[in-house]
Amino acid sequence: MKLQTKLVHISKPDELTGAISTPIYQTSSYIQESPDVHKGFAYSRTANPTRKVVEQAIAELEGGVSGFAFSSGLAATDCVLKLLNQGDEVVAGNDIYGGTYRILSTVYNRFGITSKFIDTTDVKNVTNAISDKTKVIWIETPTNPTLKVSDIKEIAKIAKSIGAWLIVDNTFLSPALQRPIELGADIVVHSGTKYLSGHGDVLSGFVVVKSEEVAEQLKYIQNTSGAVLSPFDSWLTLRGIQTLALRLQKHSSNAQKIAEYLLTNPKIDKVYYPGLKNHKNHEIALKQQDAFGGMVSFSLKEDTLEAATRFLTKTKIFILAENLGDVRSLASHPATMTHKSTPSQIRRETGIQDSLIRLSVGIEDPEDLIKDIEQALC
Ligand SMILES: *Cc1c(COP(=O)(O)O)cnc(C)c1O
Repeated sequence: MKLQTKLVHISKPDELTGAISTPIYQTSSYIQESPDVHKGFAYSRTANPTRKVVEQAIAELEGGVSGFAFSSGLAATDCVLKLLNQGDEVVAGNDIYGGTYRILSTVYNRFGITSKFIDTTDVKNVTNAISDKTKVIWIETPTNPTLKVSDIKEIAKIAKSIGAWLIVDNTFLSPALQRPIELGADIVVHSGTKYLSGHGDVLSGFVVVKSEEVAEQLKYIQNTSGAVLSPFDSWLTLRGIQTLALRLQKHSSNAQKIAEYLLTNPKIDKVYYPGLKNHKNHEIALKQQDAFGGMVSFSLKEDTLEAATRFLTKTKIFILAENLGDVRSLASHPATMTHKSTPSQIRRETGIQDSLIRLSVGIEDPEDLIKDIEQALC
């Protein structure tokens, strides 16, 4: 079955009632016939029927054995990091999501789990950074906000050679456009807040694993730590997933048009979009992605905070907000918003100039979006 068909029918009719939309099982516990004899559900932190449907859906879409749903992307990340032990080392990309950088460098470091941050777009850097303590290689591709692409297949080989896990944060593309497990990754992490739910109305996070053994451990940690996704938010995410392919196609085609327009505007300095032929990692993106996604970043010739602020307060359709993957077009300023907690030196090294603007291109008419950008640049 092709992806689009699979997505639309991702939640099967409810076995108990025949409801074609998965019911929201808004319950914390379940009746037991006699002590510890029940229908597989005892308490909703451990398992909930609505959450189970969305967990099975994401596992199926990413091609893993099990999926786990959390109350946010960072709750998902936190749960995955709890698989590690004191003394383990994480080798991570140097422009991963700010919150992932923050939890690694200010929380897990206190428990004796160290992290190295490197440019993973060059596979040689990964080879040089690993050691016998490396347990995890953590990448995001494309990255936030400069859209750097790393070669999942090649990095998976390196991880395998040292018995480490390759973990890919697949938030920016979703399984509609990229399936890291097929390319050799061990674990996929998502902020479902973004494209999976897609409508800017829910926080959620997901983990998909390909090994039964890791699935057992994660199930234990999910239940033990407790940051599970609520029944209603599970349902909202499920509803979003039904239109995932359709939305991602439109996000991608709009973003491509906007990136090409930006190249022609004299006020623009750099344009970052993996779908542009001059993008540094265009070839890898072509190889491992089905399309280039909805995120576009650019910097201004006038590289100041003031110039960025002027643009961001003049747009009429693009909404200034700290999110992405919404059907509405959003704009943000990484240096003062999403990447505020990234040290300024690392920020500059990774191309986050003061005037850098990140667009999460929505599914509106592309002509309206381009006109909006044009007037805001004047
Ligand atoms: C938003 C985001 C996260 C964190 O997810 P939350 O749902 O906000 O907790 C992690 N990774 C990436 C790439 C993100 O964009």
